[in-house]
Amino acid sequence: MDSILVTGGCGFIGSNFIKYYLDNYKSKNLINLDKLTYAGNSSNLKGIKDLNYTFVNGDICDSGLVNSLFNKYHFSALINFAAESHVDRSIDGPADFINTNVIGTLNLLEQARHFFDSKKNPKRFKFIHISTDEVYGSLGEEGSFSEESPFKPNSPYSASKASSDHLVKSWHKTFGLPTLITNCSNNYGPYQFPEKLIPLTIINCLEGKPLPIYGDGGNIRDWLYVDDHCKAIDLILNNGVVGETYNIGGLSELTNIYVVKKICSMLDAMSPKKDGTSYSKLITFVEDRPGHDRRYSVNIDKIRKKMSWSPEESFDSGIKKTVKWYLNNKSWWKSLKEKYDQQRLGVIKK
Ligand code: NAD
Repeated sequence: MDSILVTGGCGFIGSNFIKYYLDNYKSKNLINLDKLTYAGNSSNLKGIKDLNYTFVNGDICDSGLVNSLFNKYHFSALINFAAESHVDRSIDGPADFINTNVIGTLNLLEQARHFFDSKKNPKRFKFIHISTDEVYGSLGEEGSFSEESPFKPNSPYSASKASSDHLVKSWHKTFGLPTLITNCSNNYGPYQFPEKLIPLTIINCLEGKPLPIYGDGGNIRDWLYVDDHCKAIDLILNNGVVGETYNIGGLSELTNIYVVKKICSMLDAMSPKKDGTSYSKLITFVEDRPGHDRRYSVNIDKIRKKMSWSPEESFDSGIKKTVKWYLNNKSWWKSLKEKYDQQRLGVIKK
C-alpha cells in the first residue's frame, strides 16, 4: 500500500491535514512522526480509527529513526509540518528553533535523499516542506510577496524557517531530490494551541482575562482558514511541479485590533458576559515585541492559475466556525491550558 510520512502531525495544521487526508484517501497509509513537544497533542487525533494510520513518537532530528521509517514504509511522499512555530518563544529561546527547524529539516532531507538514491526509490517521491510567509520579512502599506520575493526574515523563528527553505531548495538543485515548498500566511481554525492570537483571544474572553495586543494593534496579517490550507497542500502533493515554491494565503488582510474586536463582538452575541458588558473592555495594549513585522501579504496568483485553488472561506465565515469550535470544545483547551500552566510554573518537568 502507498504510504506517506507526515511530520508534526499532532500540531495544529498537521492534525487538521491528517484528518483531511484520511477522509479523502482510504487506500493509503499515513505515518505520523511527532515528538509531542508542548505544542503537540495526541488528543487532536483521538477519534481516528483508521487501520492505515500509525503514530510514531519521535524526533525529526533522529537520523536512525527516520531512516528506519523510510526502510519500512518506502514512502511516496514526506510532508514536513514539524517545527517550533511561535515567534515569542523564538525570542525567549532561539536554540530549539535552530535545532528542529534547521537541523531537523536537514536530517529529513538527508534521509529522504539516501532513500531516493537507493533502489527502493519510488518514481513519484515528493518532499513537501511547509513554510511561512514570514521568511519574506515585513511590508509597508503597499504590495504583496510573490514566490520570487527575496528572503528578509526578522525573527529567530522566521530566520530558522528561511534557512530550512534554502536547504530544501538546494537539495533539489544539488542532489535532484524532488522537493516542493509552500509559504503560507497565518492559519486559524480548530485545534490551534492557546498561545496564538485567535485562540488566546477567545479563551481569555471566556476566562475574563485581559486581551493583550502588541503596540498599537495595527500590525496586519493575512488569515487563512486551516481547511483551505489542507486542500491547497493536497493539490500541491498531487499536481505541484517539483522544485517549485507556492504561496498560499487567505485573501483576508486584517489588523490585529480588528481581529480581536471581531471575536469580542461574536462572543458578545454567542456567549454574552453575565455583567452585560462587552468582551472588548478586556482589550489591553502592551509594549510591542522586538522585530515585530508590520504587515504580511502574499500574492497567490501562481496557485490560483496553476491549480485553480483559492480560499473558500471568508474571514467572517471562518472565524464564526472557529469561535463555535472553541465554545463547543472547552474540555480540549482547558486540559491543555492546565498542563501548560503547570509546566510554566515548573510543577511538571519535561
Ligand atoms: P504547531 O506548533 O501547532 O505544531 C508543531 C508540531 O511539530 C507539534 O505537534 C510538535 O510536537 C511537532 N514537533 C516539534 N518539534 C519536533 C521535532 N523535533 N520532531 C518531531 N516533531 C516535532 O505548528 P503549526 O501551527 O501546526 O505549524 C505547522 C507548520 O506550518 C510549521 O512548519 C510552521 O512553521 C508552518 N506555518 C504555520 C503557520 C500558522 O499560522 N500556524 C503559518 C505559516 C506556516
